[in-house]
Amino acid sequence: MAKVNKNYKNVSESYLFSNIAKRVNDFSKTNPDKTIIKMGIGDVTKPLAPLVVDAMKKAAAEMGNKETFRGYGPEQGYSFLKEKISDYYKTMGVSIDSDEVFVSDGAKSDVANLTDIFANDNTIIIPDPVYPVYLDSNIMLGRKVVFIDGNKQNGFLPLPYDGLQGDIIYLCSPNNPTGAVYDRDGLKKWVDFANANGAVILYDAAYESFIKDKSLPRSIYEIQGAKECAIELCSLSKTAGFTGTRCGYTIVPKALVREDMSLNAMWFRRQSTKFNGVSYIVQRGAEAVFTPEGQKQNQENIEYYAENAEIIARTLTDLGIWFSGGINSPYVWLKCPGGMSSWEFFDFLLNNAAVVGTPGSGFGKCGEGYFRLTAFNTRENTIEAMDRIKRLLTKK
Ligand code: PLP
Repeated sequence: MAKVNKNYKNVSESYLFSNIAKRVNDFSKTNPDKTIIKMGIGDVTKPLAPLVVDAMKKAAAEMGNKETFRGYGPEQGYSFLKEKISDYYKTMGVSIDSDEVFVSDGAKSDVANLTDIFANDNTIIIPDPVYPVYLDSNIMLGRKVVFIDGNKQNGFLPLPYDGLQGDIIYLCSPNNPTGAVYDRDGLKKWVDFANANGAVILYDAAYESFIKDKSLPRSIYEIQGAKECAIELCSLSKTAGFTGTRCGYTIVPKALVREDMSLNAMWFRRQSTKFNGVSYIVQRGAEAVFTPEGQKQNQENIEYYAENAEIIARTLTDLGIWFSGGINSPYVWLKCPGGMSSWEFFDFLLNNAAVVGTPGSGFGKCGEGYFRLTAFNTRENTIEAMDRIKRLLTKK
């Protein structure tokens, strides 16, 4: 009889978004006249940049022509794109060889698939609250997880502490859900910890392009020693509106070696065995993202979301509500006012302002009492939602 992976029994059901959908549905049935504004979703709303669309149209036409048609491509990505990504790193002062770049269909699959190249008896260090994929993909393998707590005191940027033990460390900066961004000193502490313990950092930089403050690192490789201990995951989903188009990339430095094995060579082997690459058309679209004109067009979209985030942050500042993120991040993570729990505040906002956010408790136990709002919305909706929240919370 086929034996199943019983670790799946230990993965908690994700009720978060279905629970939100149910409550929103019930509310709209009983309040058909109310316009609900959704500030909970982590999906982009602006379309692809025109240059990206043109590049994909051109590539699609090439695929329909005998002379320019392409079949299977290299599993790790075409060199035209890997070289552009390597050049992009140069803008951060980081030198990455194109054979350290692995193009993929997005950061979610890479973050989960990277578990393949590590043994199951590793101890995994995961921040709480957290993007749920880090935790669930390790629970599915029965791995031991140690949580490091994010809280108001550490600004939701936990650091290594005396006695902390673990082999694989997940870090996400700018963070989903908290919007918090590690500075160089914070990242250096993690890099030093990893190098001192032979650990590996899986660094999720999916939101790096939202960092405006030049003093903050956009890549972990801006930190000395990181190439010896870190893998970096990146995505075009939020930076270039590719959530539905699907393209990301992972950097595995050749200097990263554990137990005499090159992680670059292992990831190469893993990808060429289990992955057949991203479509040529999408890679041409991704290539356009990294051209100067593509960067300019995408920057306009990022600016748009960043201004929405600033509007949210300003409103919370005016209301005297503690929050992290909002600057250098599309996420704003706020302390629920009046000591409300995450779900109490969710219901309070929905029922009294018809505004939907995400309860922080859905991202881990340290998220209880917090709430996530996102900047992925129209300007009009963002302003209207903030007006409603302001009116609600200043009502005597
Ligand atoms: N990493 C983080 C922190 C995210 O928030 C998300 C998406 O929400 C992803 C990765 C997934 O990115 P992709 O769309 O490239 O799979």
